[in-house]
Amino acid sequence: SGKYAKTAAILDELAKKSETPEAKLRQVADAMSVEMHAGLASEGGSKLKMLISFVDNLPTGDEKGLFYALDLGGTNFRVLRVQLGGKEKRVIKQEFDEVSIPPNLMVGTSDELFDFIASALAKFVATEGEDFHLSPGRQRELGFTFSFPVKQLSIASGTLITWTKGFSIEDAVGEDIVAELSKAIERVGLDMRVAALVNDTIGTLAGGRYNNPDAIAAVILGTGTNAAYVERAQAIPKWHGLLPKSGEMVINMEWGNFRASHLPLTEYDHALDVESLNPGEQIFEKIISGMYLGEIVRRVLCRMAEEAAFFGDVVPPKLRTPFILRTPVMSAMHHDSSSDLKVVATKLKDILEITNTSLKTRKVVVEVCDIVASRGARLSAAGILGILKKLGRDVVKDGEKPTSVISLDGGLYEHYSKFRNTMESTLKELLGEAGDSIVIEHSNDGSGIGAALLAASHSQYL
Ligand code: ADP
Ligand code: MG
Repeated sequence: SGKYAKTAAILDELAKKSETPEAKLRQVADAMSVEMHAGLASEGGSKLKMLISFVDNLPTGDEKGLFYALDLGGTNFRVLRVQLGGKEKRVIKQEFDEVSIPPNLMVGTSDELFDFIASALAKFVATEGEDFHLSPGRQRELGFTFSFPVKQLSIASGTLITWTKGFSIEDAVGEDIVAELSKAIERVGLDMRVAALVNDTIGTLAGGRYNNPDAIAAVILGTGTNAAYVERAQAIPKWHGLLPKSGEMVINMEWGNFRASHLPLTEYDHALDVESLNPGEQIFEKIISGMYLGEIVRRVLCRMAEEAAFFGDVVPPKLRTPFILRTPVMSAMHHDSSSDLKVVATKLKDILEITNTSLKTRKVVVEVCDIVASRGARLSAAGILGILKKLGRDVVKDGEKPTSVISLDGGLYEHYSKFRNTMESTLKELLGEAGDSIVIEHSNDGSGIGAALLAASHSQYL
């Protein structure tokens, strides 16, 4: 019928505009590597901020003692404590708690947000059991994972450059985030020192290195997306400080803000961007990460409903609600392996109040999910190739076989298996024979542990 012909045309156009052939991915990787150079050369030299983390040593395994971590960067925040036992005993015990952030606090004031966080932290500290041991006379120390762009001033201070991922708390922009947290910690009467301020990518890299000495980069695919890697200090022209003894510096790329003319962008992406809290910013993030994938799918389905009466004569009202279709729901529909696609039917009904869908309709929905997820997954692989290129690790050198481990984390990577599999197979495809020496490791909650490890290596008692 005409309905399907029109729908097919919309689908075809989406597929065509979202195409990521190998040649295009190589262009994206090249552009990523070029922008990395530019961002390291001068402040503001690139869309990639290439932030200096002040982490010039990654965990060695020698870290000892009780440390806390706090991970804020999306819809939930996590508090964690870990008892570290050094080389022999490693992680002796760890515990965590997860708290969701009330949406009103994401757009309120700095004090409100940090008071909420500090009081959750205080409650968690109050449940510390006998298995954890703080050396007598010591203050508890915390690694703070704060996953927004920060201009780092030292390992334990830094000012917020801008919010991303749906946060918008004006009075916190430009403030020292550690000071904001420390003041709130004091207000709730907790005795704790913030020993390290890190991004989740840095934390994940630290956690990854703790588990595998070959870890050289970390990528987050969660609510947002970002990457960090170990750079030679000599290769950072904009760094005017002392050269670290290690000769190395971890760089927080803030790759979510990457953009290049080669990126396959569609009308849906443009509309999403224009209507977002941060138009023109975080374009790479907006086509890759968990906060946005489901929303892109919703926009495509909405156009199909409006222009092709895809769901019948009336456009289902719920379909017009921004962000109603979350990425976990998209993922569940995409993975539906039942012959009649009953998961798709159920989700359409429960979330969008669309009933009586035909199998043919459900198949189109799955196809839309597939196109949107594949593009994101393939582009993330291209981004990783860009990092490997920058480091000269994308080709096998004569006789030499360095193993490069990339630590991956984030809910999208962890739970969206089609996304993960496409990302990993695309990276292999792009690397060819160099692929054998590149390993992707899931750094499970590396960012929390990593922050605690960095707190340990920057403890006031060392
Ligand atoms: P954050 O990025 O907020 O720190 P996570 O790394 O846990 O948190 O990632 C959470 C994000 O992962 C969610 O916002 C969602 O987009 C995505 N996600 C979680 N579960 C799934 C799932 N089952 N399928 C696809 N995406 C998921
Ligand atoms: Mg996270």
